[in-house]
Amino acid sequence: MHNHKEIRQIALYGKGGIGKSTISSNLTAALTGIGIKPAQIGCDPKADSVNTLMGGKFIDTISDITREYGNSEEDIKKAIFKGFNDILCMESGGPIPGQGCAGRGVLFALDLIRQYKIFEQHNIDLVVYDVLGDIVCGGFAQPIRHGFAEEVYIVTSGEYMALYAANNIAVSIKQFAEQGLKVRVGGIIGNLRNIANENEIIENFAERLKLPIIQTIPRSDYVQKSELQGKTVIERFPESDQAEIYFGLAHKILNNKDRFIPEPITKQELLQLINFNRHAELVSASVQ
Ligand code: ADP
Ligand code: MG
Repeated sequence: MHNHKEIRQIALYGKGGIGKSTISSNLTAALTGIGIKPAQIGCDPKADSVNTLMGGKFIDTISDITREYGNSEEDIKKAIFKGFNDILCMESGGPIPGQGCAGRGVLFALDLIRQYKIFEQHNIDLVVYDVLGDIVCGGFAQPIRHGFAEEVYIVTSGEYMALYAANNIAVSIKQFAEQGLKVRVGGIIGNLRNIANENEIIENFAERLKLPIIQTIPRSDYVQKSELQGKTVIERFPESDQAEIYFGLAHKILNNKDRFIPEPITKQELLQLINFNRHAELVSASVQ
């Protein structure tokens, strides 16, 4: 049954609002520029993962379509869209707010995609799952627990809440690995918020968890400017430094063969780590 090439499947995990969808979309957009045919699957009830690949539009989610029509192959095709440079775009969607578990909706959607061999049909090389998750809600662990993606990139800034979520993701991945699942971390992606000592904080965090930082992404106005026009930075400002960063991330992920089982830290250690860096900042400020 090897008439299809191996499809690389990666997942980006991180706290809500940390920049997963921005990174995912710029990553898939960049991949099309280097000869890769990607798909991007939003796994967040917000369902805005692929907006900047779709000219700013919200697409019908798999949850919407199955609720309205059913879950035959023909039905599911209504939730498959082609975005920038033919990137295959889908959103798992979520339950009606206040009713049902969002994670279950994600699993249901991913099962249908697998069942109908959507990626094989479209000759996809690489899939990016854009997943909301501090994985306190086990529902969002579905893409990795059920073997859709075994290669995880954790997105974080230097802020406590982002690191807290990143550490929780590491806890889950370590547990899954200990249970015999093949899921591993490919690296940390730093998405900067421009807080004090942010690079050092993320570097210390990564070191403590025994994970490499695969790319650090600066904050840039180009992100908002292109987003306002329903575009990725890759599409709108392909010559910018920021686009170069996303191209760099695409190359690094393509070439990355490293897989790690993280060593999460305790909440106390996390606080110490942040306070240590804050303290260093205060000391250096008082010296000047
Ligand atoms: P998530 O998918 O993790 O919820 P988003 O990708 O939607 O997060 O990003 C949240 C907001 O942060 C977006 O409005 C986006 O414009 C902004 N953002 C993300 N990354 C950057 C960046 N590197 N520079 C500036 N703004 C950013
Ligand atoms: Mg998102």
